[in-house]
Amino acid sequence: MTNKPFSVSCPLPFGENDTIQLAHGGGGRLMQQLIEHLFLPAFDSAGVRESHDGALLSPKSERLAFTTDSYVIHPLFFPGGDIGKLAVYGTVNDLVMCGARPRYLSAGFILEEGLPIKTLQSVVASMQAAALACGVEIVTGDTKVVDRGKGDGIFINTAGIGEIESPQDIGPSQVRPGDHIILSGDIGRHGIAVMAIREGLEFDTTIESDLAPLCEPVLSLLEAGVEIHCLRDLTRGGLASAVNEIAEAAGICITLDEAAIPVEEQVRGACEILGFDPAYVANEGRFIAFIPEKEVGRALDILHAFPLGKAACLIGVAREKETSEAAVTMKTKIGVERIVDMISGEQLPRIC
Ligand code: MG
Repeated sequence: MTNKPFSVSCPLPFGENDTIQLAHGGGGRLMQQLIEHLFLPAFDSAGVRESHDGALLSPKSERLAFTTDSYVIHPLFFPGGDIGKLAVYGTVNDLVMCGARPRYLSAGFILEEGLPIKTLQSVVASMQAAALACGVEIVTGDTKVVDRGKGDGIFINTAGIGEIESPQDIGPSQVRPGDHIILSGDIGRHGIAVMAIREGLEFDTTIESDLAPLCEPVLSLLEAGVEIHCLRDLTRGGLASAVNEIAEAAGICITLDEAAIPVEEQVRGACEILGFDPAYVANEGRFIAFIPEKEVGRALDILHAFPLGKAACLIGVAREKETSEAAVTMKTKIGVERIVDMISGEQLPRIC
């Protein structure tokens, strides 16, 4: 990485109260200044410096993972993160779930007329810090401006390329009956943190989003040669949606053990007040891994060494699917089994 230190207080040729104007979108002078004084210093990579139509990449691996996601979270800043950090870590985590080491990102900004330039500056600084933290380079990007009222401040799209170093094939089709399911930590914090700030709910203590890059714990598992069949981050729709998607794609049944799934007391309380099931609430720094039973002990030992994985635990198993059987069931704390369905509609819109 060649990024120079950058801070939100770096001098820009803009006034304190300057905002994005529609004229900036067409390559106006101010947009040129934003590129020169904001985007280039923050995302200083060989690709960006070249001022070419695209970035030229020289990956070392033959196998690459490629993904994209758009970020429309409201509000832009929330306890534990902001849209910039989310746009970097969200795409990085999808690459990591493919078993890849994240290397390159693109960043597309859709800015609403009237957005304070100061706000854009903090989002960009946050993206730069997030990219540095997980060793990815933002190598190409684009900015468009839309009319006032036609956006919501900032929307960001990031696409990412990662290099696959491990010889393993990781994905839903690799899941086998008998696989054990490991969860990397407590669930539900991102969705509740965003909801609480958005709806002005007052809880005793502030719940922070779990937003974090998953590179270190996952790449450590792969480097240690732990056999992994499938990985999935528990974003929109939470744990319940992730296991349903995998069960369906793999044609297997999954039984989860409710008592084993960690949920922080404040999150549980907030879910009770709001009428949410924590299993469906979004996370931005949690994942599940489907691994053979013989790898469970070793995988948990490795994960427990990272702050992000210190609460990692075994939460369920995959089984052969009998006809007409529900894809996912949960053994509840009182010992009965209930069906865990795919969620219909969105429980919490605009949380990612
Ligand atoms: Mg994902």
